[in-house]
Amino acid sequence: MMHLRRVAQRNITRVGKSRSTGLRGLATAAEPYDVVVVGGGPGGYVAAIKAAQLGLRTACVEKRGSLGGTCLNVGCIPSKAMLNNSHLYHQAKHDFERRGIEVPTVNLNLAKMLEAKTNAVTGLTKGIELLFRQNKVDYIKGTASFLSNTRLSIQPISESDSTSEIEAKNIVIATGSEVAPFPGGSIQIDEEQIVSSTGALELQKVPEKMVVIGGGIIGLEMGSVWSRLGAEVTVVEFLGAIGGAGIDEEVAKQFQRTLTKQGLKFKLNTKVLSAEKKDGKVYLEAEPAKGGKSETLEADVVLVAVGRRPYTDGLNIEAAGVELDNKGRVVIDDQFTTSQKNIKCIGDVTFGPMLAHKAEEEGIAAVEFLKTGHGHVNYAAIPSVVYTHPEVAWVGKTEQDLKAEGVKYKIGKFSFAANSRAKTNLDTEGFVKFLTEAETDRILGVHIIGPNAGEMIAEGVLALEYGASSEDVARTTHAHPTLSEAFKEAAMAANGKPIHM
Ligand SMILES: Cc1cc2nc3c(=O)[nH]c(=O)nc-3n(C[C@H](O)[C@H](O)[C@H](O)COP(=O)(O)OP(=O)(O)OC[C@H]3O[C@@H](n4cnc5c(N)ncnc54)[C@H](O)[C@@H]3O)c2cc1C
Repeated sequence: MMHLRRVAQRNITRVGKSRSTGLRGLATAAEPYDVVVVGGGPGGYVAAIKAAQLGLRTACVEKRGSLGGTCLNVGCIPSKAMLNNSHLYHQAKHDFERRGIEVPTVNLNLAKMLEAKTNAVTGLTKGIELLFRQNKVDYIKGTASFLSNTRLSIQPISESDSTSEIEAKNIVIATGSEVAPFPGGSIQIDEEQIVSSTGALELQKVPEKMVVIGGGIIGLEMGSVWSRLGAEVTVVEFLGAIGGAGIDEEVAKQFQRTLTKQGLKFKLNTKVLSAEKKDGKVYLEAEPAKGGKSETLEADVVLVAVGRRPYTDGLNIEAAGVELDNKGRVVIDDQFTTSQKNIKCIGDVTFGPMLAHKAEEEGIAAVEFLKTGHGHVNYAAIPSVVYTHPEVAWVGKTEQDLKAEGVKYKIGKFSFAANSRAKTNLDTEGFVKFLTEAETDRILGVHIIGPNAGEMIAEGVLALEYGASSEDVARTTHAHPTLSEAFKEAAMAANGKPIHM
């Protein structure tokens, strides 16, 4: 609050609430910021820090009460905390013994696991506040709504604070996304029995039976968590494959086999129609995607994981004259500029994959465009990762993309079952798959299902960024014994022959 007051003196016009009439009126004139970023998620907070580093006087407005957005508060970070700790629990219970580690009893203390998740979130969100102070970004707590294309009203989080207004030469919209409701409205999320990903991160009891509607990344990650902790999990997916958009079909098939071995059940090509809550249970009605005989699925908890949608509620975007498309996304050009030339937009609320690292890259590029006229995001080299065990990660084109585009390609594959480190670790599920242009050997896509895939894909991203060939990777020394040798050997397979398979 003290910080906000200091900010207010310099840049904020207070809009006082008259005690007698309750009417709001302007108090003082104010000096405009160079940049105000609306939204403190991975897109917004990174944009704000970068803008300040480039010498622009910057503020970031966030209404949640903590920085880090969806990602840090209810997304990437809490889900990874639960994935990591549920994996350790499952390993201790089902895998330690064959490694010669005898733990007589392994008990789940769910309350403590949830607390560890909360501590991870709090530590990281507070860390961003520190970064703001170090970089001299003014952190304004409240809801921003446009009064014009240069002026924002700030509704404070605390009701005892008065509304204020700020003026900015440039504004970056980074308001992110929200959980998409179930299509047609026939299933209402209550965050207790019928939950979104947010509620699925807060369940106080392991459900006996859980049904996950949607076999995309979030559904599979959260389904894995609760399955490892003891729930019987069934994933219902409308499409014929799991893993969501962009996954290579061969990897998706292997992924489904792997998760099935772990105990998850799948109902593909199946459409959920409705849900009824009765006697402490939820009964879902589902039918084949193409129509046919319906069936009833019983669950203690249902997770609705059918996607996310852009979020601009309360932003009064019309007052800024900023255009949205028919899906509610803010329309931008290739420099992230909206239909108002002093307003840019980044992250989940505009086009492209809804990923934290994509939002961050856009945040940096958008303010670089602002300051220098140059910026860059390579949308052809944005990795995707599913943090199950084994992990699944990919970058670039899939086989189905290349077939559709009529590109002649080669495949180089190497299995973790032939990798010495994976064998030593008793963790051999999966493979690395390279897709290269047949004529030039240039790498077009890299797909991994296997231990540590999410870390290993960084090498694939770098290879794509540098326009590398599979021979470039194959001739690069990889330390022994590491899982990354499987990466090198897959490149060797694309280019000629691997040694160990
Ligand atoms: C369960 C889950 C797991 C995920 N896991 C991953 C993962 O592992 N890796 C990954 O890359 N991505 C993951 N994501 C996606 C990732 O969280 C988003 O892509 C990312 O957070 C988008 O960043 P953003 O800055 O665009 O928006 P957000 O993170 O949504 O931030 C927007 C912020 O703007 C604020 N805001 C909105 N309107 C206003 C206003 N008018 N005034 C002030 N503030 C406002 C909101 O309160 C919010 O904090 C996951 C998402 C979920 C739900």
